[in-house]
Amino acid sequence: MTENCLFCKIISGEIPSYRIYEDDAVYAFLDIYPASEGHTLVAPKKHFSNFTDMNAEDVALLFEAARKVTAAVENAFSAEGSNIGINNGEVAGQDVPHVHVHVIPRRKGDGGRG
Ligand code: ADP
Repeated sequence: MTENCLFCKIISGEIPSYRIYEDDAVYAFLDIYPASEGHTLVAPKKHFSNFTDMNAEDVALLFEAARKVTAAVENAFSAEGSNIGINNGEVAGQDVPHVHVHVIPRRKGDGGRG
């Protein structure tokens, strides 16, 4: 746990969140300002500020969890697909410096990008 990290506090339960999925390495929760219904953030429990700081094993655990979360969220929120991505670095729009994968469920005609 890194002090003053918002997502470390969410993962430890100090700040409440709506949990979607959890395993030994990963915690997934609903985004508080969703880009679409079911927008979920998938974060490693270990603190990494930047995606490029992660090692292969932690990346594999993160993305396998993101794959499961995507399937579950598409099913639960009646989505036909999803945008899955990481904003890496402040210049790329990363506001919270704790790595997280956005899973944004998409439906036909929802007006989102793409
Ligand atoms: P951006 O805000 O540009 O998407 P990030 O990629 O760093 O930046 O994403 C941070 C995400 O965390 C945002 O989608 C934001 O809505 C979400 N968020 C911020 N605070 C909370 C919170 N307390 N609980 C859940 N999600 C949060």
